[in-house]
Amino acid sequence: MSRPRHLSRIQLPPRAKSFIPVGYYRDPDYPVRLNYEEYEVFRLLDYEGLTQAEAALIMKVSRPTITRIYERARKKIAQAVTEARQLVIEGGRAFFDGEWYMCERCESHFNNPENEVVKACPLCHCSNIQHINETI
Ligand SMILES: [Zn+2]
Repeated sequence: MSRPRHLSRIQLPPRAKSFIPVGYYRDPDYPVRLNYEEYEVFRLLDYEGLTQAEAALIMKVSRPTITRIYERARKKIAQAVTEARQLVIEGGRAFFDGEWYMCERCESHFNNPENEVVKACPLCHCSNIQHINETI
């Protein structure tokens, strides 16, 4: 089965689900929502220092698509920081390379290259784990 062409590949899931401002905190019920592909483009360009062409190859989308996603991501992050709003990372149209999980207790992220069913965190052995691929 082939994947739909409009999905973006995510190499590494975000370590946190959200960021909450300290001090003044506006509209807790109306966070700024950054989707997974916006997070990944922001990470690849501004954290890893890749070019838009390099990010396009990694995410398997066109360079103009990277430009559009990047503009949205920067606008949202600027809005969250300027307006002191919670930034939530969720949703989007993306897929992961492998099966990714997050431990609810130690909050570590881990993948499963053998694609077997994972029942516990490999670090703390907690069984309260979330299959991240299913949350997108
Ligand atoms: Zn754990």
